[in-house]
Amino acid sequence: MQNEIVIVGAGIGGLTLAIALEQKGINFRLCEQANSFEALGYGIQVSPNVVRVLRKLGVEKQLDRVSHICCGFELRSFNTDKILAKWQIDNEIPYYQCRRADLHQLLFDAIQNKGRIHFSQRLESYEQKENCLHLYLQNQEPITAKVLVAADGVHSVIRRSLFPQYQARYAGYAAYRVILPFQDRYRSLWGKATVWMGRNHHVVIYPNGNEQNSTSWLNLVLVVKDKNWHNQGWTIPADKTALAKDFASQSDELNLILEDMIVSPEACFKWGLFIHQPLPYWSQGKVTLLGDAAHPMLPFQAQGAAMAIEDAYVLAKYLASENDVEKALIKYQQARIERTTAVQRVSRNNADIFHATGIKALIRDLGLGLVSATIPNLLNQKTAWIYNYNAETP
Ligand SMILES: Cc1cc2nc3c(=O)[nH]c(=O)nc-3n(C[C@H](O)[C@H](O)[C@H](O)COP(=O)(O)OP(=O)(O)OC[C@H]3O[C@@H](n4cnc5c(N)ncnc54)[C@H](O)[C@@H]3O)c2cc1C
Repeated sequence: MQNEIVIVGAGIGGLTLAIALEQKGINFRLCEQANSFEALGYGIQVSPNVVRVLRKLGVEKQLDRVSHICCGFELRSFNTDKILAKWQIDNEIPYYQCRRADLHQLLFDAIQNKGRIHFSQRLESYEQKENCLHLYLQNQEPITAKVLVAADGVHSVIRRSLFPQYQARYAGYAAYRVILPFQDRYRSLWGKATVWMGRNHHVVIYPNGNEQNSTSWLNLVLVVKDKNWHNQGWTIPADKTALAKDFASQSDELNLILEDMIVSPEACFKWGLFIHQPLPYWSQGKVTLLGDAAHPMLPFQAQGAAMAIEDAYVLAKYLASENDVEKALIKYQQARIERTTAVQRVSRNNADIFHATGIKALIRDLGLGLVSATIPNLLNQKTAWIYNYNAETP
């Protein structure tokens, strides 16, 4: 039998699409390369634009149960520890912070018919022949489909087959991720995201988890300019002692956290950050790209998972409302590509802002101080186009 829609990749975007299609009564098959479901990843920011989608999909309560609520941001100098700017988030919808593993798990749990999810199914290649797609899976008989959605992440084989000439470029940054069990002595960091920036280093720290219902954690992302090439994976272990030495700063609070990191049993992972040029299109015939497969981005606006979730919701909407699937895929692309390209650009620009040195850093610090002291809401207005997006009417 021909499968209606085949989604490749049961990550954040693929699972969200599966939930949305299931709720609309649309048949699909989800193929995941992993042998079984494994919820992975440390901290992730779930901004109001995503919460709006998750609310529509009926999983906001589940998210609330595993999340910390972020009420504002504090930017500090990495060199002096001085507060450069702080502001409260002004949005009627919460801004959550949780573990990616918890978000991944709650999306998986929300799928009613787990029989539609097929593990150990790694897509190797595909062909579009006349009115049908032929999908070739590792160690499996080929399957056919009416639509193929590539939710296969940053290393997407489907993107590579559509755009063999597109190469990612190392961005010149290495990033490190670690989490620590939350302790009372981190309490001053509760309720916000704190960012230290300067001297080519930048650190983002925020709590995640929910004290009432689950364990709470302190999530650390440490980014440093590094000329050496790092692999784009998520699971390369880092040397925590060397890292703490490199990130030693004027902030006693930060130094203490780094000392805790050294003795913590939690592993620290490093990965190289890569720049992917925006693609000219995502949909070709009956094939389309979604999430990191379509628009991998630097993590400096914390919108990678957010864009995947928005994509999924919008794609499901067009697949439900349009009889002609090729038209549906084009409408989806038209609704999404401009926004995700803009978010890719902002994420890239933030890298320069966070890591500025010399006169650029001086101007940044003075500007932030002035705005934060006089019109702090301007800092909310700058991100309103991201957080106020409504995927129902893109
Ligand atoms: C292991 C892991 C840990 C992460 N940790 C964090 C984190 O701590 N914080 C954070 O902000 N972001 C993290 N991310 C990134 C973030 O989750 C993604 O940027 C974002 O969710 C985009 O979602 P996506 O659905 O496009 O891709 P992903 O969520 O990466 O999902 C892609 C899925 O496709 C599957 N896949 C890939 N190729 C094939 C194939 N050929 N055939 C079948 N299946 C395939 C993968 O196994 C994966 O399940 C992590 C991603 C991964 C994969």
